[in-house]
Amino acid sequence: MRDVRDELAEIARELARHARWAAARGEREFPLPGVLSELDSTTRSTPAAAGEAPPRAPARANEGAPSEGPTPSVPAASASLALPGAEPASPPPVSRPQHPERVLETLRQEIGDCRRCKLCRGRTNLVFGSGNPRARLVFVGEGPGAEEDARGLPFVGAAGELLTRMIEAMGLRREEVYVCNVVKCRPPGNRNPEPDEIAACSPFLVRQLEAIGPEVIVTLGKFAAQTLLQTAEPISRLRGRWHRYRGIDLLPTFHPAYLLRSPHEKRKAWEDLQMVMKRLGLETPVRKSRPARGPGRYDE
Ligand code: SF4
Repeated sequence: MRDVRDELAEIARELARHARWAAARGEREFPLPGVLSELDSTTRSTPAAAGEAPPRAPARANEGAPSEGPTPSVPAASASLALPGAEPASPPPVSRPQHPERVLETLRQEIGDCRRCKLCRGRTNLVFGSGNPRARLVFVGEGPGAEEDARGLPFVGAAGELLTRMIEAMGLRREEVYVCNVVKCRPPGNRNPEPDEIAACSPFLVRQLEAIGPEVIVTLGKFAAQTLLQTAEPISRLRGRWHRYRGIDLLPTFHPAYLLRSPHEKRKAWEDLQMVMKRLGLETPVRKSRPARGPGRYDE
């Protein structure tokens, strides 16, 4: 059984993390004078504080649910929130609100006919995201392509069809998961999103993830992984291992568009998805039609 002092130390560390995050956002009411230093000294005095534990897993079943109103814009870049000379602040773990559907609807209304970055000029439709607002699993890509821009839906072109097959190979239906992108408007000519565009749009992604509070996030391609993890590491180094995003397990894998161009990499992506299935407790579906080629593979 855990010592009660360990429990208290863990709570203190959690509060200290939240206090640093709130202070870095300029919130004056949370870090009462002296509270942060008190918490820091408490956490430093415990042996477990030496290698600070990752934030706790997101609460399910609406534990500690925040209000349903719009949440403030939160830049995805925790590093950019840091005060000069201060340790980088960690945003608090995500906990799903009671009515994620309403929170997402409110966010969509708030985005409106967004003109916050130059991608608005070339878009036909803003592509917000689609799927189950209470999904256990969220896929995050980088930005809409031509087909997505035309239809206003994420991942509906050739790469989207492959993503759907990947999801089905996991034994899930597309409607059971949530799919969205880092930028909501199509970069012209399908070029990569630029840093100012990611900076302008990623707070919407952060708020979508806050609304949904999934158990697992799968990032597709380098931009989604680098944006949420605040790293410049290449996708080849990020993929295939677990990361944490605000208390949520995050697994980067290749973008389906890349897999269409490089089919020999599908095996690695399938290994990534199997890690996700294991984490979510999903069984690999048995395919009746082609049993000789292995169960549930999407790349056959
Ligand atoms: S990409 Fe995002 S920030 Fe830029 S115009 Fe579209 S919705 Fe707005």
